[in-house]
Amino acid sequence: MSQALTLIAQEVRSCTKCRLHQGTRNGVPGEGNPQSEILFVGEGPGFHEDAQGRPFVGPAGKLLDEMLARAGLKREDVFITNIVKHRPPGNRDPLPDEIEACGEYLERQITEIKPVLIVTLGRHSMMQFFGPNARITQVHATLRPWRDITTYACFHPAAALHQPKYREMLEQDFDGLPKALETARKRAAERAQRPEQAAGVASTDEDGDAPSQLSLF
Ligand code: URA
Repeated sequence: MSQALTLIAQEVRSCTKCRLHQGTRNGVPGEGNPQSEILFVGEGPGFHEDAQGRPFVGPAGKLLDEMLARAGLKREDVFITNIVKHRPPGNRDPLPDEIEACGEYLERQITEIKPVLIVTLGRHSMMQFFGPNARITQVHATLRPWRDITTYACFHPAAALHQPKYREMLEQDFDGLPKALETARKRAAERAQRPEQAAGVASTDEDGDAPSQLSLF
């Protein structure tokens, strides 16, 4: 772990910026390869993650490991984090002010890791990058430019555990991941050759639409 990521992790563990830390056992900063090309962003820690202080270590994490293997990846290859770093009570959805309060940590993780591809897991994470009006059923397995990074939306593994109909879609999402990474690498290489795009001049997304000028958080 780089010094900067270690510092972020320390700050997360003692963070009291929003109500979420109350009643939790551990902050869950995220973990993985600090030089990973891929950053996975889930929603928030659940029971097992809160107990261990590590992301995706419960049943959803087991399924995530399975999906990573489908895409030819191992957990150690990638970096995994969440949009909120403390467990929402009863696993409820994170609230907008909690996502905003925690946003600084994700921002700093993105800056430090400099991923070529951000993979969102679930609706809440997806909306941070695809915009509040995007629907997961419509945008899963698609790419969007976000700032100078490519993002790719996947269903959340927990959705597939709760509703078997989502399993097939989750598998589709991860089957598409190697191609998504290849495209993201190409786009990054193109941007590096064209400084005006690296500076944030709009390109188009998969559908030919101009990307929304999202500011995350
Ligand atoms: N679900 C998430 O979104 N993140 C975790 O870390 C675990 C379950």
